[in-house]
Amino acid sequence: MEQLGVDVLLLSVGPELPWLCGYEAMPLERLTMLVVPREGDATLVVPKLEAPRVLERTDVFHLRPWGETEDPVALVADLIGSAGTAAIGDHTWARFLVDLQRHVGGTSFRRANEVIGDLRAIKDQAEIDQLRRAAHAADRVAVALQAGEIPLIGRTEIEVSTDIGRRLIEAGHARVNFAIVAAGANAASPHHDAGPRMIYRDEVVLCDFGGTMIGPDGVGYCSDITRCVHTGEPSSEFRETYAVLHAAQAAACEAATVGTSCEEVDATARRIIIEAGFGGQFVHRTGHGIGIEAHEDPYIVAGNDAPLQAGHAFSIEPGIYRAGEWGMRLEDIVVATDDGPERLNTVEHDLVVVT
Ligand code: ZN
Ligand code: ZN
Repeated sequence: MEQLGVDVLLLSVGPELPWLCGYEAMPLERLTMLVVPREGDATLVVPKLEAPRVLERTDVFHLRPWGETEDPVALVADLIGSAGTAAIGDHTWARFLVDLQRHVGGTSFRRANEVIGDLRAIKDQAEIDQLRRAAHAADRVAVALQAGEIPLIGRTEIEVSTDIGRRLIEAGHARVNFAIVAAGANAASPHHDAGPRMIYRDEVVLCDFGGTMIGPDGVGYCSDITRCVHTGEPSSEFRETYAVLHAAQAAACEAATVGTSCEEVDATARRIIIEAGFGGQFVHRTGHGIGIEAHEDPYIVAGNDAPLQAGHAFSIEPGIYRAGEWGMRLEDIVVATDDGPERLNTVEHDLVVVT
């Protein structure tokens, strides 16, 4: 905060509050906001009826429960006082920011992610352990997919997506964040929403799924994995293209060492796909950070020249998409460590035929 000239940090709904103090604000019209001045004590302004859910840590923050007839925005404004610059959580509801600006006309606002995004991107050992547990839980679902335990042929994408979601919960996730199931030509759309399309023999089924697993301290961390299976023997052209994807993904994982820039990791995957002639069909960045949020810093993308640091956790997920025909993507979560990159997802990376 001192480096950036930020006088007060304001955190409401979103990932920063649980990351800092273990409490996740209810996404309600009743305002919850942690007010952290650059100097002095932090205060958690919280609806009185939610206060019993908060484990108060007086070494970290004090509680200021507010009653139904109080104005919580005015309470926060009092705590902000004459601060020149406030940094407010990216996910804070606009209505609260608009109301706050009316109270504290002299305060300028910027994004809290500028203050704590880089800190949050570096995971400590407990966070890496939680990401690994979540990844292994997602792996178990991918194993079932590759073993043919999740029926595909004759079911709709939605039915398979629901099945995968149920299995994510059974594997220990508290909630499902997404379960993309894209068959045949639908797989050419990277974020295809599972639909009523029936899955047939002899086509690719791209499954990209993940959820949030709650750790011992009550804070949730995400999983995210993509595997492709084929409902019959694929064409040699499809197999050869998949081999390119597989090689690109493996090379990018190996390149994800401490000190390597995010854009160089992206370029490592992209070069292999371009050299094979599919450059125009790899239409997205190579990856995204992961933690409390499914997508967060650091982004593995051209233009991000920030070097990877030990504790950065992110996806490596190149894809090749042929509009109107098929698509393929291969995704693992990787952690940069001083001993080299660690893949948290270890389930089979080859194209598996499931009939
Ligand atoms: Zn994914
Ligand atoms: Zn992803």
